[in-house]
Amino acid sequence: MKFDTVVIGAGIGGLTCASLLTKTGRSVGLFEASGALGGCAGAFSRGAFAYPVGATLGLGFQPNGVHQRLMHVLGREIQSFPVDPVMEVKHPHFTIQVKADREAHVQNLQAYFPEISSGIASFYAYVFQIGSTIKQMMQHFPRFPMKNMEDVKRWLRGSSWKTRKLVPLLSQTVYSVLKHHGALDPDFIDYLDGQLIDSMQTDTRHCSALFGLYALDVYHSGSHYVYGGLSQIAETLGDVIESGGNSIYKHEPVHSVTKSRDGFTLQTEDGRSIQARQVILNVPVQSLCDLLDAALFTKLTVKWRQKASQAIWSSCTMYGAIDETYLRNTSLYTQHITVPGGKTNGEHFFLSISSRDDETRAPAGLRSFTISTHTNPRSWIENNDQKSQIEETIYTQLQAKQPEVYEGIQHAFSASPKTWEAFTRRPSGMVGGFPVTRSEAVRGALSVQTPVKGLYMCGDSVFPGASTMGVTYSGIHAFEAVTGLSFTAMEELLYDL
Ligand SMILES: Cc1cc2nc3c(=O)[nH]c(=O)nc-3n(C[C@H](O)[C@H](O)[C@H](O)COP(=O)(O)OP(=O)(O)OC[C@H]3O[C@@H](n4cnc5c(N)ncnc54)[C@H](O)[C@@H]3O)c2cc1C
Repeated sequence: MKFDTVVIGAGIGGLTCASLLTKTGRSVGLFEASGALGGCAGAFSRGAFAYPVGATLGLGFQPNGVHQRLMHVLGREIQSFPVDPVMEVKHPHFTIQVKADREAHVQNLQAYFPEISSGIASFYAYVFQIGSTIKQMMQHFPRFPMKNMEDVKRWLRGSSWKTRKLVPLLSQTVYSVLKHHGALDPDFIDYLDGQLIDSMQTDTRHCSALFGLYALDVYHSGSHYVYGGLSQIAETLGDVIESGGNSIYKHEPVHSVTKSRDGFTLQTEDGRSIQARQVILNVPVQSLCDLLDAALFTKLTVKWRQKASQAIWSSCTMYGAIDETYLRNTSLYTQHITVPGGKTNGEHFFLSISSRDDETRAPAGLRSFTISTHTNPRSWIENNDQKSQIEETIYTQLQAKQPEVYEGIQHAFSASPKTWEAFTRRPSGMVGGFPVTRSEAVRGALSVQTPVKGLYMCGDSVFPGASTMGVTYSGIHAFEAVTGLSFTAMEELLYDL
């Protein structure tokens, strides 16, 4: 088999890139190890139920959001609606509704934390100001880290005098910004930690201020529920690829990538040999030491090789169904913090419930749910005790704080890092990208262009933070790097027609 370009992995990053290559008439082969599209944002079915495997909350679906812009270029649409409140946060000391409207959100927080009311107002005014500046820059798809003059030009295009204000944030943490604004309260920090661990994979004390403040603002730019789950992004992109004449090879894990005279030779686990001029890896960087042959792996720089051995979080997840007669005005998204300072192993978890009118996920009268919690893959010993301890923590919290959910559960089952490893092929079930600390955000960031000519990377190893929105940016960047085309120029062409 021979292709101009091969994409390895049908996560949202790889699908984004392959769909744009298809749209612009390129020959591309997409090889996916599993039988499903979407990776961490995919779904699986059991009986009449469809469960999102991990990602559930849609960011970037608002007008001008990255998913909307991509769908516009591809001539497709995804059905979703904005959620408000975005989520409810349940902590031993408080229950907070995260309002979509920025002003209402701040007023809400001030009511919960009256002692630091003015600190919260001042902190969030700054968060929203920084969020708006970064959003403006992101409209031009700046690449990070900058590699050439074109990258510099893009940054400048999205820059204004306000952009200067971002520079000091490179050396600050969210915690230092909080301190500056006089908003240091242990419970408020727990609230922010809860938001950041899900999006930035780290907490206020360690999170880069530049990315952390943007992440705190993003929830208020438009958080959406997607009908059928976020796997609809994957299904839609998959359809663009196949109806555009290219093929997706499911159940075709790529075993090795070797440099050849004209490009690369890939071997699948079934022994199929594939030639490609260029290759886009939509796998985590931790997979590269196994996937690339030794000669190719050593061509990567020290930074890449170090990142390939760096551990990140894994996830423990639960799936099930709830009888909706038990539910009252239950939020579709609830974040639980079961003990002050809790961040992992059920002490912090995210519950997502399907919408009442979404019968693609559960039969009428029932709702499907997904719960996820961070866990350290290194400390994970695959035994039922650890899994049942996490389940126990989650059930105890639900019984105390969301009894309507607890009592309404019809069935439930759970997945461990081992399941994640089997389903997504991510080593040790590590998911969600690198924690966005200061050093990670500046020195540690990887580019979509690897040090090997013709070898590119997309996905959550090369875009800060864990979201379908972020990996969509990475897929667009990979497409641009491979073709030399500009996504925004494609958009302009469409508007001119
Ligand atoms: C539990 C959890 C909850 C999350 N919640 C949210 C959320 O609410 N909202 C949000 O926006 N984001 C969320 N995220 C983050 C988001 O889902 C991910 O960051 C994103 O989907 C990762 O996409 P990716 O492009 O990096 O590819 P991945 O999802 O990692 O997919 C990679 C694909 O490559 C395939 N593959 C791997 N190796 C090979 C090989 N050798 N050959 C062929 N194929 C291979 C895999 O099977 C997989 O399909 C969550 C993530 C997790 C884990």
